[in-house]
Amino acid sequence: MQVTPHVYVMHIDDGAVFHPGGSNNYFVGDPHEAMLLIDTGEQQREWTQRILAYYEQLGRPKITAILLTHGHSDHIGGLDRVIDVMQAPARCHPRLASRLEAMVGKDMVTPLQPQEEVRTGGGVRLQALFTPGHEVDHVSYHFEAERVLFTGDCVLGGSSTTVRDLSSYMESLQVLTRYPHDTVCPGHGPVALPPRGTELVRWYIQHREEREQQILAALAKGISGVAEIARDVYPADLPEGLRRGAEQNVATHLAKLVKEGRVAETPSRYGLRT
Ligand SMILES: [Zn+2]
Repeated sequence: MQVTPHVYVMHIDDGAVFHPGGSNNYFVGDPHEAMLLIDTGEQQREWTQRILAYYEQLGRPKITAILLTHGHSDHIGGLDRVIDVMQAPARCHPRLASRLEAMVGKDMVTPLQPQEEVRTGGGVRLQALFTPGHEVDHVSYHFEAERVLFTGDCVLGGSSTTVRDLSSYMESLQVLTRYPHDTVCPGHGPVALPPRGTELVRWYIQHREEREQQILAALAKGISGVAEIARDVYPADLPEGLRRGAEQNVATHLAKLVKEGRVAETPSRYGLRT
C-alpha cells in the first residue's frame, strides 16, 4: 500500500499480543529509480518471503540502503537473506553495528551518524534521529518533504510500547515533536495518517505523563510493590499476556522517579526458603 508519493508499506498481521495491529516494513523512494528499505522483520522464512514478494511487486527497484530502527529480533530478523537479494548495505545506530557485522559481514554495515541525511531515488532524503528509550540503539527517520516520521518501536500505531529507559525515552519523544510531520509510520500497528498522525507523538507523551501521575497517586495511597501498583493502575481485565509488560512498565516509571529523586526505593527483603 502506498502511504505518500514515496512511501510504501508492507503490512503483516503477525498476531503478536505485545503489539496489536501487526507489523510493518517500509520501502521509501521511487520504485523506477531507487529505494530504501526500513527494517527486515522477524526471522521466519515466511516473513522474509513476504518482504521479497513486495519487492518483486515494486519491480525489484535498486535498494540503496537497508535502514534498521533497532536491534530487536522482529526488526533485523531477515537481514541476511534480504541483503543477499538486494545487495545493499545495512545502516544502523553505531551501538548495533557489531551485532549486524557478525550477521552479514563488516563490508555490509555502515553505522549512521547522528542526524545523518540518507538519500535515495525520487530525490528522497531521510534524516536519522537517534531516539533511545525503547532500546539504546533505536533510530527514527524523518522524511521532511512528505511530513512522515518512521518511528520504529518508539511510537506504535495501535498501542503503547515497552520502554527500557523512560528518562531517555521521554526525551526522545520530545525530539520527535520538533520534526514537522503529520503521518507516523510505526514498526507495529496501523500507519497513523493525518489528523491522527499529527497528534500521535503528543498523545504518547501525555499518556506517559498520566501514567506517572497514576503511579504517584498509588504511592500516595501507601501501595509500594510493583505488582500491587500495576494492579491499582491498570484495568482489572488486562489480558494475562500483558500483565508482565504492565509490571515492567511500572518498574520503568519507578526507576525514572527514583533517578529524579522524587521517589525513594527501599531495599528488598529476604528470607529463608521454607
Ligand atoms: Zn518491534
